[in-house]
Amino acid sequence: MTLKRKNKVLLIIIGTAALVVTAEFFLYKTIFYKFLSNIAPSSTPLSTTTPPKNFNDFHPTPSPTPRPLTFEELNNLYGPCAHLPVLFYHHIEDPDIAKLRGYQALNVTIDAFKNQMSYLKDKGYQILNVSSLINFFDSGGGVGRGSALLTFDDGYEDFYLHAYPILKSLGFQSILFLPTGLVGNPGYLTWDQIKEMSSSGLVYFANHTWSHYAATGSPAKVREEITLADGQLNANGLNNLKVFAYPYGNAVPWVQDYLSSLGYKVAFSTTPGSILCKKQRFELPRLRIGNASLAAYGF
Ligand SMILES: [Zn+2]
Repeated sequence: MTLKRKNKVLLIIIGTAALVVTAEFFLYKTIFYKFLSNIAPSSTPLSTTTPPKNFNDFHPTPSPTPRPLTFEELNNLYGPCAHLPVLFYHHIEDPDIAKLRGYQALNVTIDAFKNQMSYLKDKGYQILNVSSLINFFDSGGGVGRGSALLTFDDGYEDFYLHAYPILKSLGFQSILFLPTGLVGNPGYLTWDQIKEMSSSGLVYFANHTWSHYAATGSPAKVREEITLADGQLNANGLNNLKVFAYPYGNAVPWVQDYLSSLGYKVAFSTTPGSILCKKQRFELPRLRIGNASLAAYGF
């Protein structure tokens, strides 16, 4: 091999080697950057799954859901307590009329109501008056198991037309919470009907503000509404043992103190429950009754 030919072969070998090294360099560079990009922190999550809109429905935040306190627990905290379900109703009316007049949601049909009252009678329930409850709180008089209170809110005329005759036939007492300023309006009781029912001794009329005003409203107006109704009930010889129910159901703390300062004895909310405790006498729970059998409400 001549020197010229030797140099040519050498050049080819060097050239090939250089090509291989260059190719390898780019290959390793690619792999190296690929590796780097895999370990580098990334601002976007690896998972591209986006949470559904109602994410929290699928993953509810665990929170301590309050379980109802037992009788013993309530008795220790707020006692003495009595197991005394207080049923509450609004309208007692024929379903077609209730639908036509737009108060179906607040209505219990006359037939369902009749069945519910017969059920209480058949089961031997003692229907108490409110003075038994006040007496229990004040002097510890007994409220036996199997007692109940019947309450009706808002003073609708259908109470006089449909509920009162049924209650009267069974000798059941009841409490009616009356917004006194609405008396005599279409669909509401009249003072004559109220006097008739009150003098029977079966229906106790109590304060539900003057115009059905929420206790969560303006304090000046709340005070005015309560005292106005108090005066009107008093002028008609009603609500001698002062009893109140919060329109819309919310027992506001300052209103509880205000009622107490006026000489009120008890006040009813719409918080569900049937254990009534002395230290909660201004926020007593009740059971809202619909058209189902009373067995469905635990009676
Ligand atoms: Zn009401």
